[in-house]
Amino acid sequence: MRNLSALLRRVTCVVLLAGAIASWGLSGARAENEVNIYSYREPGLINPLLAAFTKETGIKTNVVFATSGLIERLAAEGKNSPADLLLTNESGLLLQAVAAGVTQPVKSAVLESAIPVQLRDPDGRWFGLTRRARVVYASKDRVQQNAITYEELADPKWRNKICIRSGQHTYNVALVASMIAHHGEVETEKWLTGLKANLARRPSGGDREAVRDVKAGLCDLAVGNTYYMASMLKNPDQKAWAQAVRMLFPNEADRGTHVNVSGVSLALNAPNKKNALKLMEFLVSPEAQRIYADANGEYPVVEGVAASPLVQSWGKLHPDPLPLAKIAALRKKASELIDRVQFDQGPNF
Ligand code: FE
Repeated sequence: MRNLSALLRRVTCVVLLAGAIASWGLSGARAENEVNIYSYREPGLINPLLAAFTKETGIKTNVVFATSGLIERLAAEGKNSPADLLLTNESGLLLQAVAAGVTQPVKSAVLESAIPVQLRDPDGRWFGLTRRARVVYASKDRVQQNAITYEELADPKWRNKICIRSGQHTYNVALVASMIAHHGEVETEKWLTGLKANLARRPSGGDREAVRDVKAGLCDLAVGNTYYMASMLKNPDQKAWAQAVRMLFPNEADRGTHVNVSGVSLALNAPNKKNALKLMEFLVSPEAQRIYADANGEYPVVEGVAASPLVQSWGKLHPDPLPLAKIAALRKKASELIDRVQFDQGPNF
């Protein structure tokens, strides 16, 4: 049995490697004027950025898109990996990549001066490229208040009124980690238990499905990332969900709203390192930051680049200044806490 699983593993490796070679032809991964990207971020968002990069530098980009498995693929490919860069839609995946040993540190004055220190790894192993806030979507019909805090989500006045995705989803793990950073583990466990008791249903779906359920009257509040408002408004099937809610930015009057980032890491064995660095630095240029902001309704990380008119219409973001590296260090604790209170079992368990 053990032999069989070892064989299967080896076969998987070969298949992955063959896939990678097929992606970039048989000439190999190193190329004078190319850069190879593994991206968890979707083509619709990344392609306009890469087109602008190629136009400016003449460097061709090759991308493998996937919604899962890219870090495992990098690890399996090892020294033969053609990947230069890993693009992710959340900092948790960057940390996973670092933990898997598939990244290398970058020293770049351009990146360090463009990206605030709390939004990147102090050791240069990952960099935030765009920000998003984790907010509360409140029913326009049934919720009157214009402000809220994360702490208040555990108040019994919201009993049976909150919808949220799995507690173990990386967005929620980061939020819980930020609560541990601010309140300690004991208080956060109480808070999480209170929030669980207030859920209208078992945690499931994504952030948009939580908003859908507000529209449907199942709950009054949904927890979700800001850019989903932009994406729901663009989608004819989801526009009505977006129009049924207002966004409340938790804790804007005190420590600020929890933010996370999408980001980038340099792959450990990047065959085209010079070109990869050029692309990393391009992604924090005002031009690239504007494309990100307009295409996905995210907040630029670079000071002085304006958010899109839609994002600006939500009001000024007051971000919690807690460094993402601190959140990273508390993720494991947060995840254990979420399990301990059996968050994903829902309110009646
Ligand atoms: Fe998302």
